[in-house]
Amino acid sequence: MNNFSAKHRSEHLRQLEDQHYDLLVIGGGITGAGIALDAITRGLKVALIEKADFGSGTSSRSTKLIHGGLRYLKQLEFGIVREVGRERAILHRNAPHIVIPERMLLPIVKGGSLGKRSTSLGLYVYDRLAGVESRERRFMLDVERTLQCEPLLNKDIVVGGGIYVEYRSDDARLVIEVMKTAVEKGAMCLNYVECHSFTTENNKINGANAVDVLTGFPVYIKAKKIINACGPWVDTLRKADNSLKGKRLHLTKGIHVVVKKERIPVQQAVYFDVQDGRMVFAIPRGEIVYIGTTDTTYRDNIDAPFANKQDVEYVLAAANHMFPDVHLTIEDVLSTWAGLRPLIHEDGKSPSDLSRKDEIFISESGLISIAGGKLTGFRKMAQRSVDEVCKQIKKEEHKKFADCHTDAIPLSGGDLEGKTPEVYARELQTHFTDFNIDEVLNLVLKFGSNTRIILQVAKEKYDDNLLLSEADYCMNYEMTHSIGDFIVRRTGRLYFERPSLNGSMSDLHRFFTQQISPHTSVAEKQWKDFEAEYTGVVAFKNSSRT
Ligand SMILES: Cc1cc2nc3c(=O)[nH]c(=O)nc-3n(C[C@H](O)[C@H](O)[C@H](O)COP(=O)(O)OP(=O)(O)OC[C@H]3O[C@@H](n4cnc5c(N)ncnc54)[C@H](O)[C@@H]3O)c2cc1C
Repeated sequence: MNNFSAKHRSEHLRQLEDQHYDLLVIGGGITGAGIALDAITRGLKVALIEKADFGSGTSSRSTKLIHGGLRYLKQLEFGIVREVGRERAILHRNAPHIVIPERMLLPIVKGGSLGKRSTSLGLYVYDRLAGVESRERRFMLDVERTLQCEPLLNKDIVVGGGIYVEYRSDDARLVIEVMKTAVEKGAMCLNYVECHSFTTENNKINGANAVDVLTGFPVYIKAKKIINACGPWVDTLRKADNSLKGKRLHLTKGIHVVVKKERIPVQQAVYFDVQDGRMVFAIPRGEIVYIGTTDTTYRDNIDAPFANKQDVEYVLAAANHMFPDVHLTIEDVLSTWAGLRPLIHEDGKSPSDLSRKDEIFISESGLISIAGGKLTGFRKMAQRSVDEVCKQIKKEEHKKFADCHTDAIPLSGGDLEGKTPEVYARELQTHFTDFNIDEVLNLVLKFGSNTRIILQVAKEKYDDNLLLSEADYCMNYEMTHSIGDFIVRRTGRLYFERPSLNGSMSDLHRFFTQQISPHTSVAEKQWKDFEAEYTGVVAFKNSSRT
């Protein structure tokens, strides 16, 4: 039985209830996925539950960069710069199909937050602290070369620029590749299972009461240790554990807008100043450019953050100021996404000044909660959390576990045989000549070496229909239950390849309904949820809320 197939849900649920786990992880974002992988590879028996789809919280709503930590340099957090710089290199090595170097232009503007000399020095220090390879080190540009690099820039304010390298990723795919690797190593990870309370023995936590969200049936999971990796919902579970005291989360919302590349044809990614002192990214991806983000305190419904009109106008105004000839308006916005940063509250600090450091809280009952942090640092966050679990079990049972070694574990799809995705795709295409190189590369940049399975199945089962074969793979190997899971998080098609869905939506809906939803009511609910999500991406157009 494939332990990550959506088709075997009832067997998975049975197994989840039958076993007694060393560790139960609650929350299937990047933090939870990283913890599951770290723990299973140290020899712990691990389960993970996620109340919606994997990555559906903040971990599919980020700027999708594996940062070298430039912003931390501004806050003088040198330790974090060093750590995330190293992490970036490890992630690129272990998942070269989805963690890819991207040249970033940093324009220097009159009256901006960065001067020429401070930028040059800052990037120099950053390169050294983050251990940036020599071919990826920064170089500075005079004003003419900056404008040659990016002719759309505001000529009245640009005084120079710097080029440095960030790594772009696909956050939701990173979550799924980490989770898939954990499952391949023996972890039991299930989506659509929501924890609502805990059980204790002698005042120590020993299990979780949950519900199968797709059927409403209760699920009970026994575990020696439980980690709350619920991101923005961390405090909700701390409350369920009666341990919400002391430090609390401070949620801040960040949104991105997606526009057609022809409306803002930037030559490369640009990280630019906003007049209020913040900085914003414009990142080209295929036929679109996404721009963001914002950083505002959030006190609304955690389950449904969305970009309102004010957020969108802020981002568009920032882009129009830096690229004055593009004149973007709300009508240009194809879609938006909004995410919540699960930061730790510090009195008197503004959202942008709050530290992005992660912290672990351990309650009297033994619930271990981890909050803060970044996508980029997930492996180290996992290491710190699992160190704590191993320390506790060692003390209680004198058992020993291996040290963390996830730095040396390639993620699923990451074995490109030392080749770049382009070279790997070109070679693969010679074995599957029915498909053109663009189609193969598009798949390699999502599924890496697992692309081979999709191409083979397309030939054998779907008469060369790649979309259905991709859906088949996601259902059988990535626990994909619905069209929403598929087009939002497994493939990003909703945001980045919308035309590829033209005329295929009903086929895809029928595919998931027939294949895995034995109860029509479940299929219909998923379709409705998806429709809500789909219309949600343009909800700001009708919104007057701020
Ligand atoms: C706008 C924005 C841009 C960002 N850009 C970047 C970036 O470019 N690079 C970077 O490194 N970082 C970035 N970050 C930060 C990064 O995205 C987050 O730190 C990270 O995704 C948090 O992951 P997480 O797993 O802790 O939380 P989440 O991804 O939110 O995961 C928590 C999960 O727990 C689940 N859950 C909640 N309650 C329960 C329950 N009761 N039972 C079961 N499951 C439950 C939720 O459904 C959710 O899926 C950005 C953040 C934002 C908001």
